[in-house]
Amino acid sequence: MIKIENVSMSFGDKKVLDNINLEIKDGETLAIIGGSGSGKSTLLRLMIGLDHPTGGKIWLRDKDIAHMPEKELDELRLHMGMVFQYSALFDSMTVGDNVAFGLREHTDYSEQKIAEIVREKLEVVGLPGTEDMMPGELSGGMKKRVSLARAIAFGPEIIFYDEPSSGLDPIMTDKIDELIISTQKRLGVTSVVVTHDMDSAIHIADRIAMIYEGRLIAVDTVDNFRRIEDPRVKAFLRGLY
Ligand code: ADP
Ligand code: MG
Repeated sequence: MIKIENVSMSFGDKKVLDNINLEIKDGETLAIIGGSGSGKSTLLRLMIGLDHPTGGKIWLRDKDIAHMPEKELDELRLHMGMVFQYSALFDSMTVGDNVAFGLREHTDYSEQKIAEIVREKLEVVGLPGTEDMMPGELSGGMKKRVSLARAIAFGPEIIFYDEPSSGLDPIMTDKIDELIISTQKRLGVTSVVVTHDMDSAIHIADRIAMIYEGRLIAVDTVDNFRRIEDPRVKAFLRGLY
């Protein structure tokens, strides 16, 4: 579904990603792991077209999003769900209006149709009937759920998560992991999950890719990944980063 080809990214003279090659398969959940500052979020932003690489190509099916005009990218992004590290909900809007935001901006659906979609998406994330609540009334985990409901409002083909459980306690982290798995099963989407939590990666992913100082040093199925002998991978598996 996505093919990252010889991608490099520099900010000024600082090379943050160095010749990354990675394929994301239709319908899989790929976890991208690595220590803080290794380049995970940068790679995710490139896949969404929020930044453009200084070298290489990023194929989304047959389109190179690394070299695509902004207008075309906007259109494409409607079919990509994004759940960021910080929930980024509009605090002055109800939960329902938050989920409906993109639909109102980008479609001419009737209010009745929008309400129906919002109802359904809130149900998918386990928050039925919360349309009229305000974000301030929600726990951190609930806000993440609302972000996910908003991300799936358009029926995306692919969902990107950047550290979806950062700032949440271990119980909430488990719940978000379960939600990622159930969303994946229910919608049959492709998922890319950036995390520095090895346990989460093992739990939710089909394959794991590890970035170390801007280089992709390992990518394999979860079972194989756990047997990799590279000392950097082993250190990560032991929770040393
Ligand atoms: P991670 O998500 O793995 O923690 P990031 O992708 O956020 O890492 O960052 C990788 C490196 O790139 C870091 O050293 C960070 O400071 C740098 N970086 C990220 N974004 C920018 C930017 N917009 N300008 C300059 N440096 C950046
Ligand atoms: Mg990051």
